Amino acid sequence: MFDRRVIKFVCLECGAPLEAEPGSAGLRIECPSCRAETIVPRPALPRLAADATTRRTPEEPEQAFYDEHPVMFGHHPFGFLGSVLLIGAFGLGLLLLAVWWLRTRAVRLTITNRRTILRRGLLSKLVTEVWHEDVRNVQVRQRLLERLASVGSLAVSSAGQDGFEIQADGMPDPQRAKAIIDEYRLIPTAVAAPGAAQTV
Ligand SMILES: [Zn+2]
Repeated sequence: MFDRRVIKFVCLECGAPLEAEPGSAGLRIECPSCRAETIVPRPALPRLAADATTRRTPEEPEQAFYDEHPVMFGHHPFGFLGSVLLIGAFGLGLLLLAVWWLRTRAVRLTITNRRTILRRGLLSKLVTEVWHEDVRNVQVRQRLLERLASVGSLAVSSAGQDGFEIQADGMPDPQRAKAIIDEYRLIPTAVAAPGAAQTV
């Protein structure tokens, strides 16, 4: 069944409300407000609308609950300290820190009420996204020092794919990121009883 609803969503860069033609899900468009490239989300599944026990409906606009870059210190604390020490020596440490900082800015993990989006690259961006209803597994990995700094790796895999489609290292507060995904991914499984009508 083809979905004829206009798709309503928000620009994840500037928060401007956007609308797209039915059937345009997955297309890249340019936000009229901030000129950032964004991907049109697909409309929410009809089965979500049938669930009277949640406050969520397909009309709920998409919004980001987690939007972070990796942190410099948490994932490689010794490299970070070494770079700081080198500043005094040659100024080389400063260069290393600058490059490192740029590399963390090039990675951005955004989690909305609909999907998880990983963007890599400063100029040309590689965008990977997983819809919450497709999530099969969410993992947080934290080494000892990372745990002390509330930093860790977040990995998300979806049904129908081998391995983790989204893998982000050195992310701040990865447990919160996982909690957001878990909260939303569990809705459809709780609703879709065996033998429920599959309309998608
Ligand atoms: Zn925008």
